[in-house]
Amino acid sequence: MNLTKLPGTMTINTEDHLTIGGIDTVLLADKYQTPLFVYDIALIRERCREFKETFERKQINAQVAYASKAFSCLAIYQLMAQEGMSLDVVSGGELYTAIQAGFPSEKIHFHGNNKTMTEINAALDYQIGCFVVDNFNELNLLNQLASKKEVIVKILLRVTPGVEAHTHNYISTGQEDSKFGFDLMNGQAEQAAIQAIEMSNVDLIGLHSHIGSQIFESDGFLMAIDKLLSKTIDWQNTFGFKLSVLNLGGGFGIRYTEEDQPLAIPELMESIIDEVILKTTELGVEMPEIWLEPGRSLVGDAGTTLYETGSQKEVPNVRNYLAVDGGMSDNIRPALYDAKYTGVLANRVTEQPTETYSIAGKCCESGDMLIWDLPLPKVQEANILAVFSTGAYGYSMASNYNRIPRPAVVFVENSTDFLAIRRETYVDVMQLDIPFPTE
Ligand SMILES: *Cc1c(COP(=O)(O)O)cnc(C)c1O
Repeated sequence: MNLTKLPGTMTINTEDHLTIGGIDTVLLADKYQTPLFVYDIALIRERCREFKETFERKQINAQVAYASKAFSCLAIYQLMAQEGMSLDVVSGGELYTAIQAGFPSEKIHFHGNNKTMTEINAALDYQIGCFVVDNFNELNLLNQLASKKEVIVKILLRVTPGVEAHTHNYISTGQEDSKFGFDLMNGQAEQAAIQAIEMSNVDLIGLHSHIGSQIFESDGFLMAIDKLLSKTIDWQNTFGFKLSVLNLGGGFGIRYTEEDQPLAIPELMESIIDEVILKTTELGVEMPEIWLEPGRSLVGDAGTTLYETGSQKEVPNVRNYLAVDGGMSDNIRPALYDAKYTGVLANRVTEQPTETYSIAGKCCESGDMLIWDLPLPKVQEANILAVFSTGAYGYSMASNYNRIPRPAVVFVENSTDFLAIRRETYVDVMQLDIPFPTE
């Protein structure tokens, strides 16, 4: 970790401890115990503003929706509402939490490839702003349910434009093998648009595409924009389709380790915006609103996990394992995606590394590893290990595997700490269990 480029409000204090939001993380670990997720709220606010201000500067009508699957809880929804964001939810549970948080329902967008009747009815009752319709079953069901409630709902069609974006490259495919959305190239999307326009209780306002995640460059987005706008002009001419909203999804990359060099958000956004302006002008399509749906890039590097180090195992001439008091139960990404992280000892940040440790979780899986080959100073007793950039898809994918209680989540800002999610207890972990009947 390049300690001169720490994200957000992170600093190193005179005791050589890592601080976040003006608070010593060693004190946080002591106060709230470990594992502990610590969120740098000022950094999240800064990221939200970066997105919104870039649109404002370029004078584009826009919505920036926080893709809340990255990290969802009451307090983060309230923070996003404060920042004037819109919100993506993908399930009844996320929707319920957002409503409980007082999130303005007209700014909620409902995603998902298998929305149930119950979920759709709930969303209709809450009068959410928009449904992102994924498939024909949903289109028909939504129209039917909206008709029963005598409402007309705004929809976008989720389309797969045949662009697959990865961190450093993108692939253009004629047809996309994905469980999500209507295929743009084989005529499905067109069929869906024609049907939607004919339906009485849905109002088709535009198209949505989400091409991937942890994307560092703009090429994939530009390619998707070209494909979507070319179809738009065809459809406009043949059946009167009007694109009021172009939703380009999320996927903006963040820095997990030194190797990651994502484009800055304003830079990436500018090339996206410029391409939409260029293409619409060229084709004679009216300039639509642009919607984006960042998840990881809003909360990812604002999150840090603090663990306490525990046992060690030396495999002579191979490696040294250093275990921590969490693992795949609070961060499954290394096991699931081979995701890379880095970290430091929060209580000895700048001390010269003399050892190389592979950081193991405490779950009963050989794959439960958090970081391979991390240079650290020699660890002899319990230390606090800070793992960086764990704010997205960490807590939200946490589980009770091995009946490990899920960690606490604390928000820090301006030297104040706020417990956003309390640590689970063994009682919490057991609370759904029903004892086996005895004779
Ligand atoms: C997951 C997802 C996002 C957010 O992706 P990030 O990589 O976290 O920015 C946005 N839109 C849709 C439809 C998604 O599925």
